[in-house]
Amino acid sequence: MKDLFAQIIQQMGEDLERPGLVDTPQRAAKAYQYLTKGYAQTVEEVVNGALFPSSSEDMVIVKDIELYSMCEHHMLPFIGKAHVGYLPQGKVLGLSKVARIVDMYSRRLQIQEELSSQIANTIMDVTEAAGVAVIIEAKHLCMMMRGVEKQNSLMRTSCMLGQFREEATRMEFLSLIK
Ligand SMILES: [Zn+2]
Repeated sequence: MKDLFAQIIQQMGEDLERPGLVDTPQRAAKAYQYLTKGYAQTVEEVVNGALFPSSSEDMVIVKDIELYSMCEHHMLPFIGKAHVGYLPQGKVLGLSKVARIVDMYSRRLQIQEELSSQIANTIMDVTEAAGVAVIIEAKHLCMMMRGVEKQNSLMRTSCMLGQFREEATRMEFLSLIK
């Protein structure tokens, strides 16, 4: 990636020999590797067996999970929060694992709709819950810095699986994350 970043910088009309830019291709390559590290991770690795038996069937909610991703259309960041809920049926997931699953899918080139559904489906698969809800609210730099240049628009996407497709369950979730 380092050589490719050097080419990009040159194509921008910059001088690669300029002191401030000498190490930039290397640094940019490292940064992009970090920002896309989710490609090198798998669900098994991230969950790492942190599934525990539980007799509770009450809704589990993890809200305000910080989220940093990059849109696949412009490779510019989108930044926001994810709220996740699920209805356990015998198994609960280690608390930090929900955030790690969000992170794994965020650190890839994404669109927000797909990100919501990948997180929800993974939690459903792993926990075999009766339902999973994922809401993501994010600001997209590609909308703020270019194009329509709308600074304050927040995009909200949701994915509701299983029992969360029912109005009452969905409403309970929405009121709990407020
Ligand atoms: Zn974009």
